[in-house]
Amino acid sequence: MEKVLSGIRPTGYLHLGNYFGAVKNFLALQDNHECFFFVANLHALTTHPDPLSLSSSVKSVLAEYLACGLDPEKSTIYIQSDVPEISELYTLLNSLAYKGELEKCTSFKEKIRKHEENINAGLLTYPVLMAADILIHRAHKVPVGKDQEQHLEMTRNFAVRFNHRYGVDFFPEPQAFNFSQQLVKVPGLDGSGKMGKSEAEGNALFLRESNESIINKIKKAKTAPSPTEPNSVKPIEIENLFMLMGLVSSKETIQYFEDKYNDCSIQYGPLKMQLAEDIVKFALPIKEKIVDLEKNTDLLGKIAKLGAEKARESANETIKGVKNLMGLKSIWL
Ligand code: AMP
Repeated sequence: MEKVLSGIRPTGYLHLGNYFGAVKNFLALQDNHECFFFVANLHALTTHPDPLSLSSSVKSVLAEYLACGLDPEKSTIYIQSDVPEISELYTLLNSLAYKGELEKCTSFKEKIRKHEENINAGLLTYPVLMAADILIHRAHKVPVGKDQEQHLEMTRNFAVRFNHRYGVDFFPEPQAFNFSQQLVKVPGLDGSGKMGKSEAEGNALFLRESNESIINKIKKAKTAPSPTEPNSVKPIEIENLFMLMGLVSSKETIQYFEDKYNDCSIQYGPLKMQLAEDIVKFALPIKEKIVDLEKNTDLLGKIAKLGAEKARESANETIKGVKNLMGLKSIWL
């Protein structure tokens, strides 16, 4: 069975972008693949988060994963730092990664441009840690967004380099994967780009958001002037609202508003009310589960422990193989 691996950084609550861009794919994969899904807390360290808020975010992402339907019986669900073999592989892979290629990485260049005051080694070697995450289970498929394509290319380079240097076919070359074959980009509510945790206030709709807050944010979402010509092209703000509808509303509802747009009789107030209602309906059962799960610390602990055990079993096998090949097998122990 092919192995699948993916993770999300605990840098805030999960939003609709994370759900439709990432978690929904995870759900589709867990029935017929050997899946590893983790909370990427080591990756969050590059921005120096407050320790208390980091550990509480780890707990909330774990609860959100489970509330969305990730199933510990089907998938291995774990916290990255609970599997020390990942950090070990990261150390071992570091000498296979070159300064030049790491410095050329787009996400590194972008981060140093935005945060001149915090250009740390963790940022530079982020793709090596990501390679360790994937290669530790020798995964084949990695369901990630478009933003991660270059990192995945680097993982393949490290895997091929390792295989070549040690004359073996040890690591598979992992491929990016999207279930619908089309990378989903969920738009934000401010009419600009994608929905994101760190975008402006009001841009993202979180899975745990209260109904009132969802309604308020949608009411405030950017719109544009109503169409004056039949069948005109939608401005980006309106296209975004229709895209969100495409994720949560019925075909009939979407068609109803499309027709209204095309014959110029559309009013954005009712469209927003319908969209808000459908998002509330979609998010409510997930939100209720999140609240329940977060109260059940024992259950979360059990699931994290079981996940770590399963992940370490798979990780240990890889580490043993890697150390043997690299000449690091202990001759004394
Ligand atoms: P992040 O929240 O940036 O750590 O992203 C976690 C996962 O969610 C990654 O696989 C991203 O590609 C995906 N993701 C985040 N925001 C969006 C969005 N607006 N649309 C689609 N996918 C997204």
